[in-house]
Amino acid sequence: MGELKGKAAIVTGASRGLGAAAARDLAAQGVAVLLVARTVADIETIAREIESAGGRAAAMPCDVSKYDDVAAAVARCRERFGRLDILVNNAGLIEPIARLADSDPDAWCTAADVNYKGVYHGLRAAIPVMLDQGKGVIVNISSGAATGTLEGWSHYNSSKAAALSLTRCADAEYRDLGIRVVGFSPGTVATGMQIAIKASGLNPVSQLDPSVHRDPAVPARVITWLCTDDAAQYSGVDVSIGDEEIRRRAGLPETIIASASGGT
Ligand code: NAP
Repeated sequence: MGELKGKAAIVTGASRGLGAAAARDLAAQGVAVLLVARTVADIETIAREIESAGGRAAAMPCDVSKYDDVAAAVARCRERFGRLDILVNNAGLIEPIARLADSDPDAWCTAADVNYKGVYHGLRAAIPVMLDQGKGVIVNISSGAATGTLEGWSHYNSSKAAALSLTRCADAEYRDLGIRVVGFSPGTVATGMQIAIKASGLNPVSQLDPSVHRDPAVPARVITWLCTDDAAQYSGVDVSIGDEEIRRRAGLPETIIASASGGT
């Protein structure tokens, strides 16, 4: 993955879970990373850790549901690192887990603002910069929920479906102009999101034994690989870690390639 050295990326929702792991993995490949999220102390700590390990990183508060915040992050990335080559639209919310008639309308809409509009905000802010540079990769973190239906997850299913549609729309408009937009379903990952899912008790995902969830470092490695030219054939689609071919191409260890898939 040496080709990534010297590139610059923004990872949204980088304060914990999959986003933090993706920021660390990209940085380990020589990518300068701007970590963004609302919890400033956490992204600052992770950015310092990356810099202590010899990488390049910066942190900036950003609420992806606010376009101005996302545009400011793109401007900051260019100012600090001189470019923007990669955007990982990772920020996401699973709560409020509730059946439609029990859901809180404000919380339901906040999830849509983050999971769906947050992805639009990233695309809108990053694509013009990538067009100027003639190249760019955007990875939208998806889920099996984008094409599925689970009790209590109407906000999550529908917002991930909308984000998948944005992946397809952006690909149709910008693939021929050098920008690759791809979705990635990471399977079930051992993060705070799965703790909230388990606590809900609703639908089969909450019944999974926590031992089946992947270490975030594993899907993070696939995200990094998706940013390379080796993954150029994947554009305008969701790819899944449940696909053995994807696990193999991403260079995951043989034990993980051989493991059964799981996915939300
Ligand atoms: P997580 O541990 O709950 O982390 C979510 C991240 O999103 C945090 O860094 C959070 O940071 C950030 N975030 C939430 N609202 C935000 C906002 N308004 N603006 C900016 N950042 C915001 O969840 P995760 O499991 O790592 O999830 C990461 C992505 O993977 C999500 O898109 C999720 O849908 C997807 N995914 C996860 C699983 C799984 O099993 N865990 C499965 C499939 C897909 P702050 O709170 O600091 O803002």
